[in-house]
Amino acid sequence: MDAREQLLYLLEHFYKGNYTTDIFADEFERIYNLELDYDTLSEAEYMLFHDLSLVAGRFSPFEDDLKIPNVYFSEAEVKDKAAQVYLKLTKTAKSHLINFDSSRKKFFDCCRVCGYRLDFFPWGVYNDTPSFEVCPCCGVQFGVMDETPVLAGQERQDWLNKGMPWFQEDKKPKNWEPEEQLAHIPLEFISG
Ligand SMILES: [Zn+2]
Repeated sequence: MDAREQLLYLLEHFYKGNYTTDIFADEFERIYNLELDYDTLSEAEYMLFHDLSLVAGRFSPFEDDLKIPNVYFSEAEVKDKAAQVYLKLTKTAKSHLINFDSSRKKFFDCCRVCGYRLDFFPWGVYNDTPSFEVCPCCGVQFGVMDETPVLAGQERQDWLNKGMPWFQEDKKPKNWEPEEQLAHIPLEFISG
């Protein structure tokens, strides 16, 4: 992905609720200010991204900051702006955006094998760089046995056959509901 594609991807998935405002604002600013080649943008994209950077760049989660007039923007304001820009971009540059025809969210912070919700992104913010950490639930190492739907599916089947043992027993919730957890497996890793 080049920087422009990363911005579009980031925006699309922020709009769909797959990133927190913190992550979105940080990543947007980093790519927009440090990596983006402005010549790769259409005029409309340039205007819209510029507009968004003025808001995302001054996002603050702190109430005290937000009391100061006209300096910082709240989470709701960043979300509003991002939604406006996203909707305008999908009208003007639809062909460049990844089509999203499922209403299901992508769970970038969930294990591809067992669906366990992690407190980090096992495959990175763009879902393309494995962390090589180990899932506390099913024990898969991210980037090793969960690279493709087929591998993840085999790993999952093995784990189910063994009776869904926890790799880190101390992380197991008291009222663990395996079915609810399995529903968080990213859709594209189920069919394989
Ligand atoms: Zn897992």
